[in-house]
Amino acid sequence: MLFTDLKIIKPILDALQQEGYEKPTPIQQKAIPSILEKKDLLGTAQTGTGKTAAFAIPILQNLSERPKTNQIKALVLTPTRELAIQIEESFNAYGRNLPLRKLVIFGGVKQGSQEAALRKGVDILVATPGRLLDFIAQGIISLKNLEIFVLDEADRMLDMGFVHDVKRIIKLLPQRRQTLFFSATMPPEIQKLANSILSNPVQVEV
Ligand code: AMP
Repeated sequence: MLFTDLKIIKPILDALQQEGYEKPTPIQQKAIPSILEKKDLLGTAQTGTGKTAAFAIPILQNLSERPKTNQIKALVLTPTRELAIQIEESFNAYGRNLPLRKLVIFGGVKQGSQEAALRKGVDILVATPGRLLDFIAQGIISLKNLEIFVLDEADRMLDMGFVHDVKRIIKLLPQRRQTLFFSATMPPEIQKLANSILSNPVQVEV
């Protein structure tokens, strides 16, 4: 199977070629068509399987077909600064030929430059939970126009004690949205969280 078989648009195909990607990995083959159809997804996948591109490519494609509004339309929540930076770099790479704005925010640094970038308008936001809640509390971020929510590495969120923060964030999201949930493992607590935020998800395991 090739990326062209997944009905990916030319600007993204060109970017993937520039990245040197020849064909989609198994999780990409399984997840991309459902995400393009705006379905919810429950993915059991480790880092290293190509899971970032599995959600980033269809998110970029779906948002590229929407009018520009200057509002946050996709949010990726991830547990660590390192993962957040990597995910934003992936969106930048695959989306280099599209006019969508991406931003990464995380704690442990002054908020000034992140805040200035937010005020210019962001389409796709990659965030760690604490800093996101800080910006929401200050009224700098609104998620009321959110269309796509990605919860990445849910089991690690739990291990790192972020579950309370994650639940607070989920309560602030519009009910009508597409949710993509990824975890390397599915212990009962994670399964329960997944059941509570997904509707009729397509399940993908790699
Ligand atoms: P991830 O599982 O998202 O952390 O990705 C693992 C690595 O695989 C990253 O370095 C990606 O750049 C790379 N990668 C993702 N998809 C592909 C692909 N279809 N072909 C080649 N490399 C890929």
